[in-house]
Order: sequence, then structure tokens, then C-alpha cells
Amino acid sequence: MPEMPEVTVISEDVAALALGREILKAAVFRPDVTNVQPEEFEKRLVGKTLRDTGRRGKIIVLDFGDVVGLVHLVISGRVLRLPEWREPDRMNTAVLEFGGEGEPVVLAFTRLWLGYFDLYEPGEEENHPLISRLGPEPFSDDFTVEYLISALSRKANIKGLLLDQSVVAGLGNIYVDEVLFVAGVNPTRKANTLTDEETEKIHTATRDILHRAIEARGTTFDSYHDAFGETGQFQSQLKVFTRAGEPCPRCGTTIEKSRVAGRGTYTCPACQN
Ligand SMILES: [Zn+2]
Repeated sequence: MPEMPEVTVISEDVAALALGREILKAAVFRPDVTNVQPEEFEKRLVGKTLRDTGRRGKIIVLDFGDVVGLVHLVISGRVLRLPEWREPDRMNTAVLEFGGEGEPVVLAFTRLWLGYFDLYEPGEEENHPLISRLGPEPFSDDFTVEYLISALSRKANIKGLLLDQSVVAGLGNIYVDEVLFVAGVNPTRKANTLTDEETEKIHTATRDILHRAIEARGTTFDSYHDAFGETGQFQSQLKVFTRAGEPCPRCGTTIEKSRVAGRGTYTCPACQN
């Protein structure tokens, strides 16, 4: 379940490996992982050079000049570097081979069953249903405390609103729990009952935690090794997420697991009010 920090790392890894390289081969496992026919997927990508990579919310943006790839990795979808070309299969649902200096770079976009690798005309990607509805990026100038106060002036619970990509882009279950712990706010609180000070704490914690998570190359719970063969390290810095039954690092009270906004939620019942 890559969130903003993991997707940032993946996007930067793809750039480090393939920027300026031309696609020699491209294939998808099944028609439903992309918005074009499989033959069209190959035809539109082969011969194109990767000019830039980026991220919008949890979506990786691959700029090939006159075609833009939007990759949405869900569940435990990731990007792997394969030693050599391999036809896509159930696991490696989309595969790209890049030529250029030295060894070819073969990248597999895995487990796209519920995600996708869509192709768009340049500029049209803003109309993508997931991108057009995105709220501000957490590190953008638009994501101010004032913005957050107004976006949170609703009766819904705070956890659900922070997971809502139209409120802030890129946050998912792991980091929302961590943010709310640091801010001392219970995930079940109605957002419109938060004080401005609490919202400010949420704002600060969001940027701080995401920044540190990117530095640690994200959170890895499975045996996933990224395209460079490394694993993320932020899981060791998590304060509450997956720590049910352990003592709260701040007050020692046992961390509890519950269900909020339909998601497994970890809280300190004493620190978070
Ligand atoms: Zn506590």
C-alpha cells in the first residue's frame, strides 16, 4: 500500500534508473491494467524517451514527451528492477525495457490488479478522475494551516477527512495514524471540534512525518526490496501504527487497535483526545 513517501521514492528511483533512456519493449499482462489495448500500450511507448518523473497524490507520473504514463500502485504494488526482459505475468503486470548506455534497464510494475498503468496525452492527465479531484500536495504552498482549518470545518471524523485525497493529496492509513498520534488528536474526533491549535499540530506533523519517511525511503512491512534492492526503513520510526499492545512511546499506556473510517487504526487512548 504505497503512500506518498513510498511513491515519491519509487518515482525518484525510476528517474535515477531510466531518465533519458528510450523504451525498447513495453507490455502489459492483461487489458484491464491499462486504459488502452495491449498492442496500443506497446505501440505508444516503444521508441519514447523518459523525460521526467513525478507524483500527484499517490500516482506516479511518467513523462515520455508526447505520451504520459500514470501509474497507480495499490495493495502491495511496487516497481522492481528485473535482471532481464521477461514477459509480463500475474505478478509483473506491466514491464518496460529501456535501452541506452550499459545494461538495459527492465522495470516491472507489480500487482496492478486494482491499480493501473494508464496512458494519456500530455496535459490531459489533469482530467484523470483521480488527479482532477486531488487536494493540495502536503509540501505545496497551497497546503497552509488556514487551508486545513477551512477544509476540516466539517462534521466528519478527522481520520476519514485526512484519508480523503481531495482534502490533502497522498496521505494513507499509516501516516494518518502517525500524524494524529503526534498531534495528540483522537482519530474519531469530529473535525469541526478541533481547535486551531490542534489543526496546526496536524499540519506540522503531516509535513514533518512525510519528510522523515521520504528520507528513510518509506515504510516496508513485507519483504519488498525497491528497484535498487533496498528496503524502506521508516517502520522502525513508527510510533503507533502496527504497535497494538505495546507501550505508548510518550506515556506508556498500551496502544490500542480499533476501526475508524473503515481502516485498522492505532491510537494511544491517553495521549490522543
Ligand atoms: Zn500515550
